[in-house]
Amino acid sequence: MKALLLSRFLLLLPWVLVVVIVLDIDSSRAPPPAPGPRGGGSGGGSGGGGGGSRAAAERASPPRRPEAALPTIYAITPTYSRPVQKAELTRLANTLLHVPNLHWILVEDAATRSELVSRFVAGAGLPCTHLHVPTPRRYKRPGLPRATEQRNAGLAWLRQRHQHLPAPQPGVLFFADDDNTYSLELFHEMRTTRKVSVWPVGLVGGRRYERPVVENGKVVGWYTGWRADRPFAIDMAGFAVSLQVILSHPKAVFKRRGSQPGMQESDFLKQITTVEELEPKANNCTKVLVWHTRTEKVNLANEPKYHLDTVNIEV
Ligand code: UDP
Ligand code: MN
Repeated sequence: MKALLLSRFLLLLPWVLVVVIVLDIDSSRAPPPAPGPRGGGSGGGSGGGGGGSRAAAERASPPRRPEAALPTIYAITPTYSRPVQKAELTRLANTLLHVPNLHWILVEDAATRSELVSRFVAGAGLPCTHLHVPTPRRYKRPGLPRATEQRNAGLAWLRQRHQHLPAPQPGVLFFADDDNTYSLELFHEMRTTRKVSVWPVGLVGGRRYERPVVENGKVVGWYTGWRADRPFAIDMAGFAVSLQVILSHPKAVFKRRGSQPGMQESDFLKQITTVEELEPKANNCTKVLVWHTRTEKVNLANEPKYHLDTVNIEV
């Protein structure tokens, strides 16, 4: 009897092993990638389509919707000519290249498009619209708000591009200064903005960070070291706005007249939302995903006046 059972067992054993191995191989196989187009950036401006690497960052952070359905992030970046301009733009583009479905609206503070920025945009490899508008000389003074005209030019382009489209396109607008530092997680967070979303900003306002104070999922105040009485005590890098809100408030712009320094964000947000309506991101505004870094003024004390280099090199 024992011998019979043993022989049956030995006969079955290889088959059981085969079934176990087949099941194991099947379950460890990765699901097929979601189909859908890559990149964005049809229409105006210069620049190319996206690349496969741009999807990698958001692919790594679940939950993830199919890329084709991702709302486009429009990043408006004012920029002006100075020795570090190309370095700043390079750093920023290297970040943006990792973000899927992103359209860069680069607005030069200049009377014409500069050759340096035009060349840079052509080689950047991401969907980009290159605009320009000069800041009037009377506004180029310390203590006055910067980049007002450039951000408004970006807004105007966005509105003009979308106003004649039959169906509203899902999109999110974000003001990305050329010298800040952005984590890829930030773009993942802002992508789900329904109206206006907010989050902390590091290294700003004389503090390690500023942040919206959140209770029960709602913004109830501001942790800030500077003018806490501002209606929206938040830096330009601390919020995103849905394209729908931008289009349904066609008059909302950054104002020169009556605008005090540091009030630009509040003046703008007042026109499109209320504090009660704000959507806290970054784990109820407890994570710093963007830093208001500032590049130190570069030392050019040893630039030659005579005996210049024999070649003219773009820096
Ligand atoms: N900027 C500009 N024209 C200027 C000064 C600044 O277009 O005359 C841009 C700059 O490139 C940056 C943004 O406006 O993208 C904010 O300027 P900055 O970083 O100097 O301001 P802060 O760091 O003090 O907020
Ligand atoms: Mn800055």
